Amino acid sequence: MIGRRSIYKSPAQLRAMIEPGLITAEALRAVRERIAPGVTTLELDAVADEVIRSRGGESNFQLVRGYRHTVCASVNAAVVHGIPDERPLEPGDILSIDAGAQFRGWNGDSAFTVVVPDPDRPELVAARQRLSDVTEQSLWAGIAALAHARHIGEIGDAIQTSIESSGEGYGILRDYVGHGIGRKMHEAPSVFNYRVADLGPEVKPGLVLAIEPMVVAGSEETFTEDDDWTVSTVDGTDGSHWEHSVAVHDGGIWVLTAPDGGAAGLAPYGIVPTEIV
Ligand code: MG
Ligand code: MG
Repeated sequence: MIGRRSIYKSPAQLRAMIEPGLITAEALRAVRERIAPGVTTLELDAVADEVIRSRGGESNFQLVRGYRHTVCASVNAAVVHGIPDERPLEPGDILSIDAGAQFRGWNGDSAFTVVVPDPDRPELVAARQRLSDVTEQSLWAGIAALAHARHIGEIGDAIQTSIESSGEGYGILRDYVGHGIGRKMHEAPSVFNYRVADLGPEVKPGLVLAIEPMVVAGSEETFTEDDDWTVSTVDGTDGSHWEHSVAVHDGGIWVLTAPDGGAAGLAPYGIVPTEIV
């Protein structure tokens, strides 16, 4: 294990991760504003790219071998890793956008899900919004768990418990998980979205994790489409994906990819995020 980089960052390294987190948040905010029927996911990709470049960053997704785009855009039965394309968004679509910025050698990574408004199909919209809401709530449950956890495995326990408590019978993807983040977008350790026997590494200052529950309305069985990227449900049911990059530091936790550090999302848990100084 000689030369293996520690999973724990120094205070200076944590500070270096603030800006890429904020650029990532801004790119996703700009994309979110543009989502409407008739807009293509390629147009959304261009919006994210423009924001990241204008702030002096670069898309870390474009640094992934074989991937040319700035965002992943996963529509309906696609859960993650969807490739932006020319298909116009339709009313009622459920869409997950995942993106990250690299800035001065450090990375952010975040994702959200939205349902395109459809006044003609309120029941479809409500069902899809429920899936997104339960997924988002499970992300915040996982982040809240991190604030008090002794080991990383407690995050997945909290995420699974949160999803189960919805009573909806949703599936949690098993083959795709969260990760450490820093100099590289994907670093050790894995962050599971479900209970595992091995609780994994200790939670202590310097840990930065991308926590990202991927939840589906039916069976968690997925396959990779012929484009070699898009991960879709076998049963054709909808998927949702929410993600934040979160730092543990001496003063507490801070959600790097939320402009408020996670204050709003953590408030129901009585947790106040603490700025990295
Ligand atoms: Mg991501
Ligand atoms: Mg990620």
